[in-house]
Amino acid sequence: MDSIHRHIESNVDRSLDTLFTLVRQPSVSAQRLGFDRAPQLVADIFVQHGFEVQILEAPNNGLPSVYGYASADPGSFRRAQEQSGIDDPNAEPPTLMLYVHYDVQPTDPIELWETDPFEPTRKDDRLYGRGMSDDKGNIAARLAVINAFREEWGGLPCNVKIFAEGEEESGSPNLPGLINNYADILTADACIWEGGGRNAQNHPLIYLGLKGVLAVELSVELLKTDAHSSYATILPSAAWTLVNALNSMKDPTDDRILIEGFYDDVRASTPAEDEALANLPDDSDEWRQTFGNEAFVSGLGSEDLPRKHLFMPAANVAGLDSGYQGEGMKTVLPAKASAKMDFRLVPDMRPDDIFDKIRRHLDRHGFENVDLNLISGVHPFRTDMSSKWAQMAIETSEETYGKPAVIYPTMAGSGPMYDFGGTLGIPITSAGIDHPTHKIHAPNENITIDDFILGAKNIANLMQRFAAEW
Ligand SMILES: [Zn+2]
Repeated sequence: MDSIHRHIESNVDRSLDTLFTLVRQPSVSAQRLGFDRAPQLVADIFVQHGFEVQILEAPNNGLPSVYGYASADPGSFRRAQEQSGIDDPNAEPPTLMLYVHYDVQPTDPIELWETDPFEPTRKDDRLYGRGMSDDKGNIAARLAVINAFREEWGGLPCNVKIFAEGEEESGSPNLPGLINNYADILTADACIWEGGGRNAQNHPLIYLGLKGVLAVELSVELLKTDAHSSYATILPSAAWTLVNALNSMKDPTDDRILIEGFYDDVRASTPAEDEALANLPDDSDEWRQTFGNEAFVSGLGSEDLPRKHLFMPAANVAGLDSGYQGEGMKTVLPAKASAKMDFRLVPDMRPDDIFDKIRRHLDRHGFENVDLNLISGVHPFRTDMSSKWAQMAIETSEETYGKPAVIYPTMAGSGPMYDFGGTLGIPITSAGIDHPTHKIHAPNENITIDDFILGAKNIANLMQRFAAEW
């Protein structure tokens, strides 16, 4: 792999040029900003890297995704086998899916940027711009690997599909529909997710799953108009009804969610996952500093936090609205009350099933008058840590970075992994250029050239092993 690694290093300026071209083109999905040109630009760049490209339209007038396919070169495939000490003339090159997204977060608050977010700027060893890390930096690092294999080994060691989503930063609302429409071309043997890289201590960081999320709105309207609060003696209160409904959902002492059947499909952790949880760094002091909380929910100690945070679902009240909250007092009995809630889901919970269970819970507890509306749902997904793909990614990262990997069997956040992992049945791991100092989603997003080169080398190593050993 030495020649591949040298190529990545000596061609880094060319790779960064590609990255800068991507960063200069705004593609803010939340504001539909820049999408008159962004999909075609991404398509053109993929074509320049030898991919056959299709722009895939999303349902519901969503923003398109860009898909590229490049087949393996027989000589490069054999060379990958030699590298792994494998001599199997009957083997066929497997197919690797690279999931990335070309849309970015909005630049707000723009006044906190020290440089133009859409003009790549270098200061010392850091490169600044929106999407520089998430996820255009990861796209460019993958393309650097493609160039290296083509120019050093004469072609790709495996078949490669690259899928660049246009709406990831907006919650991938149309990805399930899009995947349904194009399922026949999106199959693969394994998938590298959008990022991955190193943690704050510069250990390789691998994640193998993401939580799901169910977002709902609860609303109650019991009067046709607000009333004078003296009527609180005899008129029903929307605000109390809503508060009581919320209260019925959770045990205040042990934080257990009381919706009947809520935990039925929570998948038990495997012994390998238990071990990974026990080995995760203790972030409790950092969280305390960031949030200023004196204690954690139901008195959890730092050793209990990773399991609760990563392997358990949550019911969160994101917003509450009713009556008067202005200056002084208004003696009003409000006609309406509403709340937004998001439920973080773990495998094998399903958003539609949990939605039905919430409805049944409300009805059973006398809250038939509380309306429940679906805002959005994303399925959770987790690749088995003992699977061949996860193990290959873990071993490879430890070789590339020369340090033990920190393995997150799942992250606490959500994303559209299920559409590839669940719907299409592809095992997924992370690998990329990420580092906690990159300020993704925030002002002054950046990367270092070191992160970029190391991340690309790791992806190259993983691609070689995948091609040879799958
Ligand atoms: Zn991202």
